[in-house]
Amino acid sequence: MSTIQTQTFSDKLLGFTLPERDCRGRVVRLGPVLEEILGAHDYPPALTHCLAEALVLTALMGGLLKDHGDQLTLQAQSKGGVANLLVCDYRAGQLRGYIQHDPLMTADVGTSASLQTLFGEGHLAITFEIARNGKRYQGIVPLEGDSLAGAVENYFAKSEQVPTRIRTAISSGPDGCMAAGLLVQHLPDGEEGRERLHVRHDLPEWEHVSVMAESLRHEELADTLLSLEELVWRLYHEEREVRILPGDNLTKGCRCTAAYYESVLSRFPKEERRDMANEDGLILVDCAFCSKQFAIQD
Ligand SMILES: [Zn+2]
Repeated sequence: MSTIQTQTFSDKLLGFTLPERDCRGRVVRLGPVLEEILGAHDYPPALTHCLAEALVLTALMGGLLKDHGDQLTLQAQSKGGVANLLVCDYRAGQLRGYIQHDPLMTADVGTSASLQTLFGEGHLAITFEIARNGKRYQGIVPLEGDSLAGAVENYFAKSEQVPTRIRTAISSGPDGCMAAGLLVQHLPDGEEGRERLHVRHDLPEWEHVSVMAESLRHEELADTLLSLEELVWRLYHEEREVRILPGDNLTKGCRCTAAYYESVLSRFPKEERRDMANEDGLILVDCAFCSKQFAIQD
């Protein structure tokens, strides 16, 4: 008897460029990594869905970073919504994220709450941290529209003047969770990092790439038997040239360690530390990202 092993394509991030159209893209599919991140929390379905989408967007934008030590952080700050704060970050293929919320307020939220219900008149902050020169670039846009993906498109249009199209597919069921996404962008000068003097949104070469991204079906994004290379090829096979960039495997990564919290706490005055400690002389600290608790000796 032989066992047929089927290869699946999850927890991967792939980059590509369409040189003749001055466009670049990223595609990501999360499976076990997503389950691991979500599994550390006990969120109601609407928040689980929102965090899954945020993680896909974080990975897509993280894929635009150049160097290994660079970091991308996505943060949604609520104002009058039922959630308080959403934070996700990406560094060197490692993803993590959480949503701070009041369980009483989120108890009655349905499975597919709107962005408005979750975050009210909140805003979205996107931060690129570049390890090489220690610089930090942050853009902030209102959390408007139907989805987080729409808010990120808005960020690229307003903060970076880069036409961007994003598609996402999120599903959760008895077989597990899956979240995937595609991002395509037009770089008007054909080169990254050059200042753009003007931006036109009616460029036919970009329109075509954007329309093709639009045609991508939810089932294709979600199909874990379809490799990301094949997915890109199906979409853009009529192009004269599609360059596939080396892919990345994604993992759940958290940088919480007892040593990290010890160094943070060591900056507090002795008296404050004593107030924080319990009767056994231990200061209990929770990591919001992975819900782990650390007991630090005062
Ligand atoms: Zn942690």
